Amino acid sequence: MVGAGAAGCFAALVLRRLRPDIPVDIFESGNRPLAKLALTGGGRCNLTNTFETVTDLGKVYPRGERLMRRALSVFGPRELMDWWEKEGVALHVEDAGRVFPDSGDAMQVVRTLLRGLERSGVPVHCRRPVRSLAELSGYERILIASGGGALDMLAGTETAIQPCVPSLFGLALSPHPLRPLSGLSVPSVRLAVSGLRCQSEGAMLLTHAGVSGPAVLCLSSYAARDLAERGYRCELAVGWLGCGEEEAYARLQQLLRAHPARLLASVHPEALPARLWELLLSRAGLRADIRCAEVGSKGLRRLAALLAHDVYSVSGRNRNREEFVTCGGVSLDAVNWSSLESKTIPGLHFAGEVLDVDAVTGGFNLQAAWSTAYLVASFIARNAELI
Ligand SMILES: Cc1cc2nc3c(=O)[nH]c(=O)nc-3n(C[C@H](O)[C@H](O)[C@H](O)COP(=O)(O)OP(=O)(O)OC[C@H]3O[C@@H](n4cnc5c(N)ncnc54)[C@H](O)[C@@H]3O)c2cc1C
Repeated sequence: MVGAGAAGCFAALVLRRLRPDIPVDIFESGNRPLAKLALTGGGRCNLTNTFETVTDLGKVYPRGERLMRRALSVFGPRELMDWWEKEGVALHVEDAGRVFPDSGDAMQVVRTLLRGLERSGVPVHCRRPVRSLAELSGYERILIASGGGALDMLAGTETAIQPCVPSLFGLALSPHPLRPLSGLSVPSVRLAVSGLRCQSEGAMLLTHAGVSGPAVLCLSSYAARDLAERGYRCELAVGWLGCGEEEAYARLQQLLRAHPARLLASVHPEALPARLWELLLSRAGLRADIRCAEVGSKGLRRLAALLAHDVYSVSGRNRNREEFVTCGGVSLDAVNWSSLESKTIPGLHFAGEVLDVDAVTGGFNLQAAWSTAYLVASFIARNAELI
């Protein structure tokens, strides 16, 4: 195995449990195994998702939806959760189906995998970067589970690679009129990038540099390649109420009519914090110190238009400290989907982030690592000669 990340370690362990007769080695370039896993979920490890709130798998896996449909049918969240519970890691489900260990400690997940590897007699060779496939010529089968890197070793092998670009990042705004409100979270916005068809919905966090939070990360995932091509410069359209102009107009009209004598500043839609409301009033050219009854229909129209489609200039991307994945990698056309084996190099398999599969936040990226690792391990277990 190349890479002692989630995919490499899980594949090694599953394989040894299914076929203790097959010797396995893991080569890891870093100082210690599972270093990234230890950081996941802000140190709590959002190790999968129940998928119960998922209605469209393509919205969860912008790349790799079809492969994941297949992989999940073989080893999905239920099988994974049973696996962890059997290993003694009690789990619970949080909002949006996100699954965490009860301990709230990613190190419990790391230690469990490492203990399993040790007991199964799988050596993890750290500080051993694999630079070329030739270095592993003594092995019958090789699994590349190197995450977002190490694709150089495939140079000259005719393996199709989709260009790698970042996914799951915040957006820097310049100018940044929302900066005075940094730290505020708006529960339900609708976001789009001018000129692109994708859009996302959910909570948005206003930050010192720009915007972040689930809706922004989701948009960065959907538009990862387009944004990279544009050098992360684009126009971001924000629908502050998560609805179109007509609905925004109707909601505003109802709100203001209900409170004719109150000051406009004090009457804001529930979803918009008061400070943001004041800023948006000024962006719409409305005074906050007039009474609701004094707002004319033209003013109301302007405000509704702004709440439905408020545009900001994006000047770059901000790395998201919570989660970050690579979009791109080994093309799914280059592998056989039941074994994740290269179509051109027999015995060479891929699992995890190194494949052109990535997801939005919520535990779906780790599920991709576990499911694809399982596919490879179970295929090798079934097909290796008895030793
Ligand atoms: C901060 C952070 C938080 C995250 N939180 C979550 C979360 O809560 N839930 C979720 O679903 N996803 C999360 N993710 C994404 C998730 O961690 C990845 O999708 C997952 O780790 C991918 O697993 P992997 O085994 O494919 O790759 P990795 O975990 O990246 O492992 C690859 C390993 O290969 C090694 N390697 C690379 N090149 C070589 C080489 N040439 N030779 C030998 N070894 C090599 C690397 O050092 C690394 O250890 C998070 C990501 C980050 C960065």
